[in-house]
Parts: sequence; C-alpha cells; structure tokens
Amino acid sequence: MTRRQQIETNLTAVRERIETACTAAGRSSDEVTLIVVTKFHPASDIAHLVDLGVTDIGENRDQEAGVKIAELDPATRAALTVHFVGQLQTNKAKNVVAYADCVQSVDRPKLVGALDRAMADRQNPYQKAGGTSETRTKIGVLLQVDLGEGEDAGRGGILPDQVPDLADAVGEREHLTLRGVMAVAPFGLDEAGTAAAFGRLADLAEAVRERHPEATIRSAGMSGDLEIAIASGATHLRVGTAILGSRPDPR
Ligand SMILES: *Cc1c(COP(=O)(O)O)cnc(C)c1O
Repeated sequence: MTRRQQIETNLTAVRERIETACTAAGRSSDEVTLIVVTKFHPASDIAHLVDLGVTDIGENRDQEAGVKIAELDPATRAALTVHFVGQLQTNKAKNVVAYADCVQSVDRPKLVGALDRAMADRQNPYQKAGGTSETRTKIGVLLQVDLGEGEDAGRGGILPDQVPDLADAVGEREHLTLRGVMAVAPFGLDEAGTAAAFGRLADLAEAVRERHPEATIRSAGMSGDLEIAIASGATHLRVGTAILGSRPDPR
C-alpha cells in the first residue's frame, strides 16, 4: 500500500467514526471540523491530506511547523487552515503568527500580549500567497483550558476559574479574535470521566460565548475520544494517530 492509500484508508475510517457519532448524538457532521494533527509527519503527508479533502491541520512544535508549512506549495497552503495546538513560549509568538491561522493554546496573559504585538508587527505572507489582496490584521485564538485542574502539570492550559478574565483580555486586543476554547482530556479517565470533563468545557464555552459572540469553537476530541467529544458538542476535533499512524513521541 502506498502512503497515500494508507492515509486514505485511515481518513475514511475516521470520517465514518465521526458520522456514526454525529448520528448517535443527533448532530449533523457539517457542524464538526476535522483537524488532522500532522506533528512529526512530513509535508508530503499534508499534501496527501489536502488531496483527500482535508481543510484543517494542526501542529504543536514551532520549529517543525515553520519548516513544514514553508515547504508546502502555495496552492496547498491556500487550501488549508493551520492551527497551532502546542505549548507556546512568548518569544515564539512572532514565528507562529507567520504560518498559523489560529492559535489554540493560549493559556496566559503574557502570551495574549505577545501574539497581539506579533500580529501588529507583521502581515501574514501566506494569505498573500493565496492570491487575496486582503491583508490579515487579526489572528484567531482559542483559550486552552486545563480540565484536570492542575493535575496534568506540563500539558498547558488555564484553570477554569481564570477563563473569563483571560477571555476579556483577548477581547481587548486589536489584533486577536477570540474564537473559542480548547482542551485535552485529562489522562487516565474512563469514558464517564472524560464525558464529565468535556461537559465542563461545554459549560465554560457557553459562558465565554455569552460575552464574546465570535467564540463559537469548542476544540476537543482526539483519536481515542472523538466520539465522547462529539456527544458533548465539540465543533473541532484534533486527530493525529488514527489517520497518520504512530509518532516517535506520544505528544
Ligand atoms: C498530538 C495532539 C493531538 C492528536 O492526538 P492523537 O491522539 O494522535 O489523535 C490532539 N491535540 C493536541 C493538542 C495534540 O498535541
């Protein structure tokens, strides 16, 4: 089997899982965006994905992502929305805004300021390469929420009770648009525990949206728990392993 066939087979299986879960939840699969997380996999895989109709990819390491996105041909890049989903140091903000369309991992005020300044300082060259004369002056951000309430130290995310203030801090920035919330399910939970965690995310997302109407995205669900995320109302899934296979490092 060629690499493309392998990816196609896996992608078809994941799309079927999404359809089945949406049907079970009484939702339309049009409400759910599949983001394929391409970390550790080469730019050639991204080209296959775009060929197979994928519109969104996720990356979690700045240096790797910058090199790979630059390798894509302009038509492939223009067909994609690129999400940055990894922990981000403030001094990398200017790199990330150059190749990403959305930063899903905003979890502290310093990063809000760094991203806003980075956007003020530059325009996105890929938007121009995509053939639009429109120059993007804003970048979409999601707040990453720590649903483990501090137990999963090191994975990033803000505690739930700090979400409203951080949301308002994003809302005040000229070059950022608050698009919603993101979370990774805490480790080691059974299905009911994961469902409860995603339920807490749903409540938070609703509270954020009341004050920030553009914050409609709820990014939750990975290879192992996408059905639970769909049942809890996720709008964006971030799936890596189930489509591209295993990576040298679990995250
Ligand atoms: C790697 C990663 C994913 C994808 O995880 P899989 O289990 O491979 O589907 C999703 N979200 C984030 C933040 C990631 O870093």
